[in-house]
Amino acid sequence: MSNDSLLKSVPSVDRVLKFPGLAPLIETYGRAPVTEAVRHIIDQSRAALSEVGEKALGGLSDEALISQISMLVEQDAAPSLKRVFNLTGTVLHTNLGRAPLPPEAIDAMVSVAGGASNLEFDLAKGKRGDRDTHVEVLLAELTGAEAATVVNNNAAAVLLVLNTLANRKEVPVSRGELIEIGGAFRIPDIMQRAGCKLVEIGTTNRTHLRDYENAIGPKTAALMKVHTSNYAIEGFTKNVTGKELSALAKAQDVLLIEDLGSGTLVDLAQFGLPHEPTAGETVAAGVDVVTFSGDKLLGGPQAGLIVGRKDLIERIKRNPMKRALRLDKVTIAALAAVLRLYRDPDRLRDRVPTLRLLARPEKGIREMAERLCGPVGQALGRGAKVSVAATQSQIGSGSQPVERLASAALSIAPTAHKKGAALENLAASLRGLPIPVIGRIHEGALILDLRCLEDESEFLSQLGELPPL
Ligand SMILES: *Cc1c(COP(=O)(O)O)cnc(C)c1O
Repeated sequence: MSNDSLLKSVPSVDRVLKFPGLAPLIETYGRAPVTEAVRHIIDQSRAALSEVGEKALGGLSDEALISQISMLVEQDAAPSLKRVFNLTGTVLHTNLGRAPLPPEAIDAMVSVAGGASNLEFDLAKGKRGDRDTHVEVLLAELTGAEAATVVNNNAAAVLLVLNTLANRKEVPVSRGELIEIGGAFRIPDIMQRAGCKLVEIGTTNRTHLRDYENAIGPKTAALMKVHTSNYAIEGFTKNVTGKELSALAKAQDVLLIEDLGSGTLVDLAQFGLPHEPTAGETVAAGVDVVTFSGDKLLGGPQAGLIVGRKDLIERIKRNPMKRALRLDKVTIAALAAVLRLYRDPDRLRDRVPTLRLLARPEKGIREMAERLCGPVGQALGRGAKVSVAATQSQIGSGSQPVERLASAALSIAPTAHKKGAALENLAASLRGLPIPVIGRIHEGALILDLRCLEDESEFLSQLGELPPL
């Protein structure tokens, strides 16, 4: 056959769509996505035919076409965002969505998601209300602040606070606190975008009260402290506390702003974790406006929490940028539900999954590893050796970067000759499971840190689908 007649042998889109074998697919997924897939597969077949000629003909039977089309339609219909098993050992993993939400938050999200709600409606007065009211009273109660507002994340909170309170003005920040955190958030850049002039003071390792004092001039709007969440400066160091800065700011009639980063509402030392400054302590130290994240140590949805002086929070709420950065109803519902859990601190550890995972004792994790070792080894067959390994989990999201939590893992080492390739294959096939399993490769083995695995039967139940190593 000539190339031309070969190309003519490829059926038209309309003809393929009439194949009886495609009817169930159209019934399930709709005509438009199936048509799209048919067009794609036919284009591909044409391209293949002009390249390889007659040899490609075998791939053009009706059955082969239908099966290719079905695969493509199913692939396109599957959601790209899905849950995974986070066995990386990093509890608050930004790339894996940070904090898992408590059931109370999920229920609250579901209850407002599908219909109308009183998001901005005052039910008592029958008039327009403010969406912040659903979290403001709780945040004020839990931090001791006069007022609060919320935005999309802490980066937005910092941007909004600086733009409201220090636009076209100067803001001194210690050189030891000019942080960059993941995803391109850098204090100097955010300052510039907020319209403020950053005045760098002190040195990387030492900044004194007099450095702030000397930097204050007629154009100074606020002093700013930034929590150095993702690194530690150790050795010959000096920084100035919020309390000292607050006295200076008041005496000089400038504001004091603090970006707490992760922030938390309770003393984490009670869960055996390193102490992290709480929002309440920061407010009590006299900081005028404090910002922190919703989805780091707080264990809630992605949000930026802003608490502080009532007059300043009111100005922040009136900034048109607030409208652009506001939270949606589903997130507000989740955040309010998580904050309500913090009203009962005694049961936090059981009820907030982030705290539960962080506080999980090593012994229980190791016992889980010992239970899973055999079944996982069996599922993987002779291609890999599975053993229990002691590991160190981290909190993640820049919180307490040098602290490590004793944990346990399954260590999977391929027995094949080409170990490197076998390891990559193994990691890829675990990522290819219906609920992808994400571990980390370390010293020739795939490490599955079990700190964040709570449902082991669910984990085990899909291992049968792994291809042999
Ligand atoms: C994480 C962090 C931010 C950014 O918070 P997001 O909620 O991720 O936007 C800002 N500042 C500090 C100090 C942080 O640790």
